[in-house]
Amino acid sequence: MDGPTPAAELRGVGKRYGRRWAVRDLTMTVHPGEVYALLGRNGAGKTTTLRMILGLARRTTGEIVLFGRRLEQWGAEVYRRVGATVETPGFYGNLTARENLLHNLLILGVPEPQRIDQVLELVGLRHAADRRVREFSLGMRQRLGIARALLHEPRLLILDEPTNGLDPAGIREVRELIRELAAERKMAVLLSSHILAEVEQVADRVGILHEGRLVEEVRMGELRDRGRTYLVIETREPEAAVRLLEERLGVRRYTVLPGGTLRVYEHVDRPDQVVRVLVEHGLPVLHASVQRESLEDHFLRATAAADPASDTGTNRPPGAA
Ligand code: ATP
Repeated sequence: MDGPTPAAELRGVGKRYGRRWAVRDLTMTVHPGEVYALLGRNGAGKTTTLRMILGLARRTTGEIVLFGRRLEQWGAEVYRRVGATVETPGFYGNLTARENLLHNLLILGVPEPQRIDQVLELVGLRHAADRRVREFSLGMRQRLGIARALLHEPRLLILDEPTNGLDPAGIREVRELIRELAAERKMAVLLSSHILAEVEQVADRVGILHEGRLVEEVRMGELRDRGRTYLVIETREPEAAVRLLEERLGVRRYTVLPGGTLRVYEHVDRPDQVVRVLVEHGLPVLHASVQRESLEDHFLRATAAADPASDTGTNRPPGAA
């Protein structure tokens, strides 16, 4: 293993409720300075995973290691290193933000009242420090929740759906805050989300959870820098076009979408060649373009591949680039 000790490591972690597995054989690592997003639909197992890491749910299988030490070997001091917004109690509406945080500071036993102003500043709520929390918008409460999780300067921050219920401006603020905590303070951030577009902008790595399984792990940098590009080709006879491309250009990696649109994952740098072959053989091309695979495509492909019952119209799986 290279680099600093991971903040969190999960090895073969599983959770069964009765006869159903909510999380199955999950292996993943979160490093300091990294934002890792668990992405999945409702019920995919995200919250269950976060709860197990926090010791709020017992796991059925596997091992969880925080900062190089197994969860079982840690005493209460692990909570000094971990901050979370999972299952945290609400705030007292009749108290101000500052009073609420003071209350939490006492519970945490942090003897530094100046932390309150620091964390309020960090989440952009300094101006609202002395307002009662019942007057706060949902976005302000969300940020106050993150402020509370940061009071004791944790090294690992665990956020369950941190942008839930926020408006676009609030989402951007929370996103920038998360990036800053990871980049400047080298905090490890593990968050859950069901919104692709958001995760794409905040995470360094994304783990796609589907029915309790980690079906794919993507490093955002790679996806952004190299991205999987492919040709989109529309003809009236997709099947004939595919045969032709196989014969003439040896194309093996392609997908025929249900509407007949063709995706070709080869010859991406020579679209003219592909178009010429089709046209020369009497197959007019109605549309041709080069596209980059978005995380959404990736997500759909990953979950479809994990789901044998689904039919995405794939003729031949494009395979890894
Ligand atoms: P959501 O975004 O809806 O919270 P999630 O990805 O966080 O979704 P989990 O809450 O982890 O999903 O739930 C995963 C599965 O485990 C679901 O099928 C859920 O019904 C089940 N589950 C979660 N908690 C319990 C419990 N206490 N008892 C029984 N089943 C549970």
